Amino acid sequence: MSINNYIKDLLNIKDKNIVIDTENIIVKKVKYIDTKFIYGKLTYTPEVCPCCGHVNESFNIIKYGTKICKIKLPDVSNIPTILFLKKQRFLCKECGSTFSAKTNIVNEYSNISNDVKRKIAVDLTKISSFKSIAESNSVSPNTVVRVFKEWSKSFKQDFSYLPPVLSIDEFKSTKNVSGAMSFICTNSITGEIIDILPDRRLFKLDTYFLRFPRRVRDQVKIVVCDIYSPYMELVKKVFKNACIVLDKFHIVQNFTRAFNMARVQLMKKFKTDSHEYRCLKRYWKLLLLPKAKLISTHFKSFPCFKGFISQKEIVEHILDFDYSFRKIYDLIQNILFAIREKNFDTLKTILQEFKPDEYGEIYSKIKAAISTAIKHLEKIKNTLNTNYNNGKVEGINNKIKVIKRISYGYRSFDNFRLRIFLCFYHKKIYGLSHKT
Ligand SMILES: [Zn+2]
Repeated sequence: MSINNYIKDLLNIKDKNIVIDTENIIVKKVKYIDTKFIYGKLTYTPEVCPCCGHVNESFNIIKYGTKICKIKLPDVSNIPTILFLKKQRFLCKECGSTFSAKTNIVNEYSNISNDVKRKIAVDLTKISSFKSIAESNSVSPNTVVRVFKEWSKSFKQDFSYLPPVLSIDEFKSTKNVSGAMSFICTNSITGEIIDILPDRRLFKLDTYFLRFPRRVRDQVKIVVCDIYSPYMELVKKVFKNACIVLDKFHIVQNFTRAFNMARVQLMKKFKTDSHEYRCLKRYWKLLLLPKAKLISTHFKSFPCFKGFISQKEIVEHILDFDYSFRKIYDLIQNILFAIREKNFDTLKTILQEFKPDEYGEIYSKIKAAISTAIKHLEKIKNTLNTNYNNGKVEGINNKIKVIKRISYGYRSFDNFRLRIFLCFYHKKIYGLSHKT
């Protein structure tokens, strides 16, 4: 191989018509930054005229001067690199028009090479802001946005498939969406995102899902969601064959939240500087711990207590403050135990035998939590009998939050949605070649 071919090989220039000026590779400062300048020439004999389509025979098309183009190449050893390409101009004698030589390393009217664009597209699949991608590729942020928009054209919603187990959830997205929360639905088994919608309100959701044909919608057998009544109505209306499984985390949260509210209500009965108030405030975590997990053998000194004491003794001490609080503690512990052990019959008995009058008036939140659970008893049964949960989609939501945070928020929901897809499906995208 000649030196020219070596250099072209290293720069990944595959166009045979380009010849690099091997004597003239220099480093100059551009805006105080060292930049590599490479000079090259592009020339060939065109076969037809692109304007009139006339075939080039008997010298109809002649060479007609040159034009220098500045092409941004990927950085070489971390030094920004620019190729000054002298493009041949041609004149067609048949129609009198002029045109430039064409190359596949760069698109027409663009001076950013396709390799750089491909690198930007790969960077867009990682969690980083547009600005930092622009800086690392030595291009402007607008170029990154342009590449992003070009990519986004390849995303089209597939209305021909829905998985048998569907997970639905919501997350806080951009400010310009009309609903407070945005909606995400995923395949519960693989964790693949099916779609992200700006609004989680029922009338928006059913118009979206009704775009799937009936045959596709009937494939959905199970929908995992949290306790939010529009979701239940959606499933009833759109997925005729599906049964609802409530997310276990949300069932547990329903009770622990009610218990915490009861604890706060009890706290408010004491003065803020009293021993009772401070105990209730400080040891809320111990109160939520399963009874069996409280350590009773290990004694150490805890704040608010004199001498050495075990976790179990602390809980016992706090429960002695109020009789009905102790009853509520036992009730919640039994409910959570039944959920942990997946014992639906026990849970059902506990919930149905609950008599609110026994627990005093101030604990109204417990009553609300239990009546919610009784309302959704069938769905809780599904939860305890199956192993489906929303763990994967909550994990996705966490990553979405990071994407949003890293980019300092998104103004447009559509761009946010596309960026999420890019960040999650990079493996698919690596396989595709960039549009050239
Ligand atoms: Zn012509």
